[in-house]
Amino acid sequence: MTTTRQKIKWRRLRACSACDMVSAIPVLRPGEHASCPQCGHVLARRHLHPVQRSIALATSALLSLLIAIAFPFISMDTNGLDTQIELPQTAVTLVDVQQPMVALIVSCTAIILPALYLIGVMIMQANVLRTVPRAYSDVIARLFSHLHPWMMADVFIIAALVSLVKLTEIGEVQLGVSFWAYCVFAALLLMTTRSVDIDWLWLRLAGEPAADTRIRCGISAAAQHVTGCTTCGLVNTLPTIAGAAAVCKRCGSKLHMRKPNSLEFTWALLFTAVILYIPANAYPMMITTSLGQTHASTIIGGMLELWQHGSEPIAVVIFVASVLVPIIKMLILILLSWLVKHPGPLNAQQKTRLYHLTELIGRWSMVDVFVVAIMVALIQSGNLMSVLPGPAALAFCAVVITTMLAAMALDPRLLWDTQGNTHD
Ligand SMILES: [Zn+2]
Ligand SMILES: [Zn+2]
Repeated sequence: MTTTRQKIKWRRLRACSACDMVSAIPVLRPGEHASCPQCGHVLARRHLHPVQRSIALATSALLSLLIAIAFPFISMDTNGLDTQIELPQTAVTLVDVQQPMVALIVSCTAIILPALYLIGVMIMQANVLRTVPRAYSDVIARLFSHLHPWMMADVFIIAALVSLVKLTEIGEVQLGVSFWAYCVFAALLLMTTRSVDIDWLWLRLAGEPAADTRIRCGISAAAQHVTGCTTCGLVNTLPTIAGAAAVCKRCGSKLHMRKPNSLEFTWALLFTAVILYIPANAYPMMITTSLGQTHASTIIGGMLELWQHGSEPIAVVIFVASVLVPIIKMLILILLSWLVKHPGPLNAQQKTRLYHLTELIGRWSMVDVFVVAIMVALIQSGNLMSVLPGPAALAFCAVVITTMLAAMALDPRLLWDTQGNTHD
């Protein structure tokens, strides 16, 4: 009897961040993961030697990034004129041509944020290894959950390959050491993010406070007036007094039954994205000057030119990334936001799948912006030929960012509330 009571007392409860159903996580062995029985969302996963694994991967990724920054990225030979660029030049040149905001977005998503993330992983995991109590680790762990979508090393690689094909029309192009180092970095960065088990980290950093014995598994957290912390995952009981501030008893993050004003923020950001999508397509993305002749091309125009010049596969990549993905993402988010308040033909499982799809595809729209950054940096030879970013570059960056923010603002648990999973 005592054993059963202890088991109930020390069960590790999690409220699924996608559908809000409460589950008890079993003891996991390395290589195993626990998924939500209702929607399949992964709640926790375990790795063999997680600390050493993360440190080794993060260190290797950071070294690869340093090599990628130090050596030539792409070089081009045009009529005997040899030009080569290092990775940071993609951002520096954008500042030189009066596009500081685009430069900031490119440098942050391709270099700065991934580097900060890797340094954060190393500091935090080293602290766990040395059993130093929590020094800066809780702050870093809190940032982790928000950083992932903004690291776009993999998107930058696709952009480099697209640029390569575009540039072969102008001259002889070669990929430098830095490009290959950057590919290794992107792969190691992905492996590092997968090696970090947030659930295990918080368990090591701050233990697991005993769960309320009255909380039941198999029903939504909201129906029991409890909520899962969006940072560390711990299930907390919410205060009964209306308007009282609630914070997680383990990590100190603010708690909410649902993201405050989730729908209002989502609609506002979606509306902004739709408005910004007009200048992003109407204005030129890239302005090319060759032998005194200036030619401005919009996203669609540039894509059609690629098709006409026989680069059909690249035209398809640009069409999918720059036209199809933003439109599909905006339409799905509009549909999901509308379905929160109105019954529709889709069940909650299907709506959640659509929501995860928007999270997955949104960042790939940055391909064309990165292509412009690489082209501008490489082709700055002055009188013979020059490439400048058009006004659409910044507008398009803003579309990508606002749609990503809209997806983050929409609380996926709202999609289950209309299915009778409600909290009255
Ligand atoms: Zn779930
Ligand atoms: Zn927490």
